[in-house]
Amino acid sequence: MQFVTLNNGVKMPQLGYGVYKVEDKEATPAVLNAIRAGYRSIDTAALYGNERGVGKAIRECGVAREELFITTKVWNSDQGYEKTLKAFDESLEKLGLDYLDLYLIHWPMPAEDTYVDTYKALEKLYADGRVKAIGVCNFNIDHLQRLLNECEVKPVLNQIECHPYLVQKELKAFCEENDIYVESWGPLMRGGAIFENEAVQSIAKKHGKTPAQVILRWHLQNDSIVIPKSVTPSRIEENIDVFGFELMPEDMDQITALDRGERTGPVPAEFNKK
Ligand code: NAD
Repeated sequence: MQFVTLNNGVKMPQLGYGVYKVEDKEATPAVLNAIRAGYRSIDTAALYGNERGVGKAIRECGVAREELFITTKVWNSDQGYEKTLKAFDESLEKLGLDYLDLYLIHWPMPAEDTYVDTYKALEKLYADGRVKAIGVCNFNIDHLQRLLNECEVKPVLNQIECHPYLVQKELKAFCEENDIYVESWGPLMRGGAIFENEAVQSIAKKHGKTPAQVILRWHLQNDSIVIPKSVTPSRIEENIDVFGFELMPEDMDQITALDRGERTGPVPAEFNKK
């Protein structure tokens, strides 16, 4: 496994396992399979309703807690200082953990204007040593800039939708300038059309790899953190088997050139579902 060093010195596996849309019961065997396959970073969220199932796998897996990197997120309905502190306690209780590695704001909801207060609660949890690192998801440049202006602790990363059809060049450049990692969600475009793309297929063929492996490699070589999801054991293994080959600069350029600003998820500044 390859690690990145976040802006507060914490080390995080560059590739992790996402569990969106994995039911609570299904989460335990899925996460156990992932940990057996070598994953050490798990990305869940209060919204996913599977923190208990994830926690059970963490307890049963036989890998020491300090070797695992566990992320969860505060959901929109819990934004605000006090509500976020309570939501954190609830997530920790469900996971059965006494600290978290990374706590994230799930969406900025700018129209509600609560993300700064929410982030201040994350800062308090960080200062109290209850979480090793704090960050955000789905933040645009203006949302990040506000945190940089009004808060003390820089977010370690911004988890955003990113894949070859949504390269996020400008936002990624801003994050890099500010020492904030990009973590790609939906890195495989949720298993969609991207696998059928001719350029992706021909690069995969050239390297003797699958389209999924080539796309994950593109994220890694772009210096992004990546959290693919699958509950299929063979795909769980396939998605972590991406450290033994390298894309050439022309392969990277060809994949980056596929950008067409296509989202699978909501427009971040407009999303405020609770
Ligand atoms: P993804 O791009 O990881 O795609 C997952 C889907 O791709 C799977 O369900 C499966 O159908 C397919 N797939 C996976 N591996 C494959 C392979 N090797 N071959 C063929 N098909 C394969 O999409 P995702 O689950 O939406 O994103 C990954 C993780 O990111 C989530 O599980 C979650 O943890 C996180 N996420 C965060 C947010 C956010 O707002 N912060 C939003 C969505 C997802």
